[in-house]
Formats: sequence, structure tokens, C-alpha cells
Amino acid sequence: MANKRPFHVWLANPQELKYNWSELCKEVAGHFVHVTRETDDYDSVIVRSTMTKPVLHANELLVYVLAAKLHSVVDDGFGPGGGPGGYTAFQRSGSHLTASEAYMHPVGEEVRLKPRELAIVIFHEAMHNILQEGDELHRRGGMAADAEHMNFDTVKHRKADDRDLARALSRMAPQWLDGWLYAKPIKKVDLNSDDPLGGL
Ligand SMILES: [Zn+2]
Repeated sequence: MANKRPFHVWLANPQELKYNWSELCKEVAGHFVHVTRETDDYDSVIVRSTMTKPVLHANELLVYVLAAKLHSVVDDGFGPGGGPGGYTAFQRSGSHLTASEAYMHPVGEEVRLKPRELAIVIFHEAMHNILQEGDELHRRGGMAADAEHMNFDTVKHRKADDRDLARALSRMAPQWLDGWLYAKPIKKVDLNSDDPLGGL
């Protein structure tokens, strides 16, 4: 009989951005429940945001949440590249670290994503991370589709993908934690000035 435990997801906030983090954590957890209910190992999901570098245990996921692509920590400190909404990169040898990030302001978007929308981007990057798939992931469609083919209002989980993710959770790559070294501080006027809620 498997000993069930929670699956842990960390949303890293190295730029100390103001946002509705509690709502974002709730939305992200709602996506991962689709995955954990396909496993024998996990019975719940715990999603936390953190401004400081956490201690990660094995099989825990971390996604950096940044203001915009120009603040990319993965591109800067781990491996060059990136997409319009987020970016995940892998070490194919050595310590096999994996790094994921998602942006509040996707490239070309003036408005900041709502927690419900940003959670979809975070889950998408998590799919790259957990399945260790690059652009080939996009062929799966659904939550795996690339940004151009993803409609936040209609996108749905595909059970086959959630099952693949569930199987892969137990062999997750260790997460890259040095993003804090590359994070650029944000002045309040930078990105929150167009936001009447003052970043909340
Ligand atoms: Zn992608």
C-alpha cells in the first residue's frame, strides 16, 4: 500500500513582485490535482510562492515567475533561449538540472496575465519540465500546445497527458535554484504603473 503524500510546487518570486499570489497558487494547484489523482503516490498538491530560495526535496517542482521575458533568469544564468510566455531548459548531462520560468507579461502583451491565465502558462512550463520534452511537447495539444495555438478560455487538460505527467512525477529532474543570482529588481513604476490595483 503506497504511502500517499502531497506534491509540492514552488512559485519562485525572486523579483519580489506584487501580485495576487494566493490566487495564483490556488489556480496552479487546481491544474496539478488533474495529475496527482492519476498517481498512487500523491493525494494532494501544495503550491507556495517564495521570495527567498527554498530548500527543495526530491521530486518537488519550482517555476520562476517573472515580470517579463526581458527579465529571464533561465536565459541569463542557465541556458539561452525562450518562448513568448515562458521558458524551460534542461541539462542533458551532468547533474541533469531543469529550469522553468513564466512571465506575467507575455511578449507583445501590454496587460498583465490574470492568475487563472498565468497558472496555465506555469502548468505548460511544468509539462516541459516534468516530461523533459522541448518543443516536441507542443504536438500533444491541449495544455501542451504552444502559445500561438493556446486559447486561455477554452484550453483543457488531456487525460493522456495528465497520466504521462503522473508517471513522470517520481523521476523528476532536480530543479535549478540559482535563479536568485540573476533576478533583476523591479522598480514599482516599471510594470505596476498601468495597474489601477497597485499590483494586487
Ligand atoms: Zn512550450
